[in-house]
Amino acid sequence: MTAAQPTLIFDLDGYFFPLVERDRPQWQSVWPNGLPRYRPTATSAWPYRVPPGAEVPPERDMMRTLSIVHAMLRSTLVLTFDSGEEDLRHFKEWSGTALEYARAVTHELVTAPQFDVPFWAEVFDGMVKESLRATHPRVDEIKLIVNLEPRIYARSYPERNEIHISALTREYFKTLNLLVWQHVWAEVTDRCHPASSDLLGRLLPHLLSLFYDVDFSSLPIPRARTIEVFWIASRYASIQLTFMLAHEYAHILFDGPQDLRQPDSERRADRFAYQCLAQLTDFKPEDVWTATRWLMQLISVERALGEVLANGTDRNRSRHSVRRQAITFDALADIEVPHWDGYLEAVGSAGLKMVGFQLNSMDQAHLNEYVTSYRQQHELHHIG
Ligand SMILES: [Zn+2]
Repeated sequence: MTAAQPTLIFDLDGYFFPLVERDRPQWQSVWPNGLPRYRPTATSAWPYRVPPGAEVPPERDMMRTLSIVHAMLRSTLVLTFDSGEEDLRHFKEWSGTALEYARAVTHELVTAPQFDVPFWAEVFDGMVKESLRATHPRVDEIKLIVNLEPRIYARSYPERNEIHISALTREYFKTLNLLVWQHVWAEVTDRCHPASSDLLGRLLPHLLSLFYDVDFSSLPIPRARTIEVFWIASRYASIQLTFMLAHEYAHILFDGPQDLRQPDSERRADRFAYQCLAQLTDFKPEDVWTATRWLMQLISVERALGEVLANGTDRNRSRHSVRRQAITFDALADIEVPHWDGYLEAVGSAGLKMVGFQLNSMDQAHLNEYVTSYRQQHELHHIG
């Protein structure tokens, strides 16, 4: 007898997992052995109230933070393709609790942004430090600072020994990997159907949120095909984040201040990040292969979108990302990728490449129209 597949998944690497601290018996059915406990320091009071006389920040900042925190909390519960009515009911309830919590902490997060380093960042940062400690004792001086900017981003400040990373980066990676997997699956199982996968259409709402100030929690909620697919997407996100962190570590360890960087410092940082991943036995080589290949494709899709949104005024950026992809082949040349994994990776990469072509050949008027309606649909407003 095989156990039934769960149709709702808890994302244990998710940020802001504090809801579970409040015992909610209805979740016991979803998570029979009790929920894991994870305490953030972002909130010290429940419920949070604006202290008398405290400064009230601009409403737009409050709304943006509220929408981001709500979406991040909500996404710790993941729907699958098989989720039924009952699951949806659970999900909506979870979303409501997430909103309640988000309302309670938003003012605090806007006025005194003291973000806990998310669990995943702590783990990956620890792994990178561990692998470098023997050769680069300075690593322990490097500090990770987390913010809630809606960007896929990590940036190093060598003069301060700091790496800044957005907590949303993992959120984006998780979502984008899930969507690429949906595309891969549709291509592999349902090839005859021409409309089986509209990868560009699925990616756009998320990618546009990197360029426009929108209500994050109104974006489409991605579902995982199965729990395995969710785990794979989550693993890829881990590898991609580790790559980004290691890349920034290289800038701090080997480069001087930002403005004095050598022209080849990006290449060196990428190579260093690949070496770092190769040393980390937590990751399977075939996963490293696919996750970093897709990462490079995703970066170039993001750049292509930036170019078309700027009316094609910045062509250099995509040339740069093509050069960057060339390093991947070289750096990962020793990895033996099983045929089936290699095939699935290629289907995903080809899909992302196609998205880049579609973006580059998109009719400007059509895109403008799409963006206008997107911004209306996801305008920041009071939630709930
Ligand atoms: Zn760099």
